[in-house]
Amino acid sequence: MEQHIYNTLSENQINQLCQRPKMDFKSVFSTVAPIIDKVETEGDQAVSYYTQKFDGVSPKPLAINPAQEEVSLDPTVKEAIDTAFDNIQQFHKAQLPVPMEVETMPGVRCQRVARAIERVGLYVPGGTAILPSTLMMLGIPAMLAGCSTIVVATPPKADDSVADEILYIAQKVGATTLLKAGGAQAVAAMALGTESVPKVDKIFGPGNQYVTAAKMMLQNSEAQIAIDMPAGPSEVLVIADDTAKPHFVAADLLSQAEHGADSQVVLVATEGFDLDACQSALDDQLGDLPRQQVARKAIDQSYSMVVEHLEEAFSFSNRYAPEHLIVQCREPEQWTDKIVNAGSVFLGHWTPESAGDYASGTNHTLPTYGYARMYSGVSVDSFLKQITIQQITEEGLQKLGPTIEKLAELEELQAHKNAVSIRTNELKNN
Ligand code: NAD
Repeated sequence: MEQHIYNTLSENQINQLCQRPKMDFKSVFSTVAPIIDKVETEGDQAVSYYTQKFDGVSPKPLAINPAQEEVSLDPTVKEAIDTAFDNIQQFHKAQLPVPMEVETMPGVRCQRVARAIERVGLYVPGGTAILPSTLMMLGIPAMLAGCSTIVVATPPKADDSVADEILYIAQKVGATTLLKAGGAQAVAAMALGTESVPKVDKIFGPGNQYVTAAKMMLQNSEAQIAIDMPAGPSEVLVIADDTAKPHFVAADLLSQAEHGADSQVVLVATEGFDLDACQSALDDQLGDLPRQQVARKAIDQSYSMVVEHLEEAFSFSNRYAPEHLIVQCREPEQWTDKIVNAGSVFLGHWTPESAGDYASGTNHTLPTYGYARMYSGVSVDSFLKQITIQQITEEGLQKLGPTIEKLAELEELQAHKNAVSIRTNELKNN
């Protein structure tokens, strides 16, 4: 990996190192636009057409009710899914909001209550691998929030079936429809609705460039949908001091690198960390990976940075704003206050990122590409809206009325003022 020394870099060079590879969506948009148009005009038929074209399968039926499907799972797989499910459920259940009520003035009562987004679409990628963990990460908070329509979309397997693991989780989260299609056509079907796919209000989930482009385009269209967050390639930044074990650090870097050739992997190490040992552990472990071609490409574009002390390491990490931040240093919990920008943080030598990817309880759908500066990962909140409610008594309106009237007058909105005066005058006259 290319190596940099932090205190020899200019501001400009540091900014460059925080940049991600440019995403070129132009050509993808031109592929995706006609797919969306065809789904809008031809519905199910268009979704089947593109699934045949890109996935080589003509799904029959196109959408199913997961509750009615037979599922057969290896008991060890079922146990692993159940354990992860329980942990994710526990952590997300604790996120359920508590209703809020404040009396801002005597007789002026303001409340905030949460309501579920009723119809949601969960995209579970399936082009190259089945991803049951993604369905847990999206389906569990949707279930806990109380979404009434949960549509799951995933590309069918070559024999037109859906993986039993996906069906099992879809049943556990109470998914109402499972669309056997992927790519832009599946996103368009959920955003616009078709004969067999209910229209949804918000679409969640990672996917390839066609999925991402369809989400971006439909978000800005008359489909009136929201999306979870902008997406880019997955990434990790590892902070290591002299207590970090080089072969643990190498394993963590590789576990991210195997995601995709465009994955971002950054190591920020203090001078006491054995970088040479880490590089040789990385070479050794890489040779044994089934996805070594992919991981090698990601590692080739990655870099390490040597810092004098941990203050510098956290300062750089905050500028980079990684999706995943792994902290392998002495007393790592002492540093959490310094972390300002990161999607999800993994503290200490015994906390691999894979724990959060699968089973510890936290969500793995996280902001990438520097968006950790202003976005959070998926949580129960992502499936809720907050509604405010207010109620004012006669006494309250008499107290607050003059303030509203004065501000309405200032903004020259006479009808606003009247809506108060007409009431306060009536109170005066009674
Ligand atoms: P996918 O389900 O995202 O995409 C497959 C679909 O793409 C196919 O069904 C097909 O309809 C469509 N498609 C394929 N070729 C096309 C073409 N030429 N034109 C138009 N549409 C086409 O599955 P994938 O391709 O395996 O990608 C999965 C992505 O999800 C990866 O980029 C992976 O990194 C990402 N991912 C991210 C996370 C995360 O949490 N960040 C988790 C899991 C997966």
